[in-house]
Amino acid sequence: MKITILGSGDAFGSGGRFNTCLHVEAGTDRMLLDCGATSLVALNKAGIARNPISTLLFTHFHGDHFGGLPAFLLDAQFLSRRSETLTIAGPVGVEHRALHALEADFPGSSSNRWRFPISFVEVTPEAPATLAGFSVEAFPMVHDERAGPCQGYRLARDGKIFAFSGDTAWTQALIPLAAGADALLVECYTYDQVLTNHLDYRSLAAHRGELATPRIILTHMSPAMLAHEAPLPEERAFDGMVITP
Ligand SMILES: [Zn+2]
Ligand SMILES: [Zn+2]
Repeated sequence: MKITILGSGDAFGSGGRFNTCLHVEAGTDRMLLDCGATSLVALNKAGIARNPISTLLFTHFHGDHFGGLPAFLLDAQFLSRRSETLTIAGPVGVEHRALHALEADFPGSSSNRWRFPISFVEVTPEAPATLAGFSVEAFPMVHDERAGPCQGYRLARDGKIFAFSGDTAWTQALIPLAAGADALLVECYTYDQVLTNHLDYRSLAAHRGELATPRIILTHMSPAMLAHEAPLPEERAFDGMVITP
């Protein structure tokens, strides 16, 4: 399993970083984990072809994680001229949210006659799924239910486990999400400002011993967190970072 972080930024592109988007691959299987508003730019910059990507999996429905979907679909229709089935997976309501986003961004496009089949898959904590050859388990996160359900995911393949929090405040659900994972990519929005919908570094550090994973990588950092230059025991994500759990 190889994960390339195409976007490690927050919603505002702080630090010149792209919105959240992870390119996940194993063998010939390709998946995007989140596809934020800037993700088509990030994919182009990285030279990543779209058609081999069989699946888009979303953590929640905020624009910095989900907002790239309309452009991805129109690219598939008109530029990449896709013929392969595209699976669009995410929390409950993913199909309705996708059509709504399409209609908001490109009015009329939600009734396009797509040149490729689209398959919508809801992934819930009660209903794990196999997507693009990865075993996917969802965990309920604490972020913003208006854009949810908000979920973190564990992806398992070939004996390796990669865990990603999506956006969340500290929640006990991070413990089973991380347990036994080879790597945990976790949002860390602020350093010491406690928020109800995002994680701060001090809270994460206080719970570090409960996260049974050898590798923690921080992402989705605010300007204040990015400016906090003191060395930390955890790694910090950057656009272009490659993780091989
Ligand atoms: Zn976000
Ligand atoms: Zn969010």
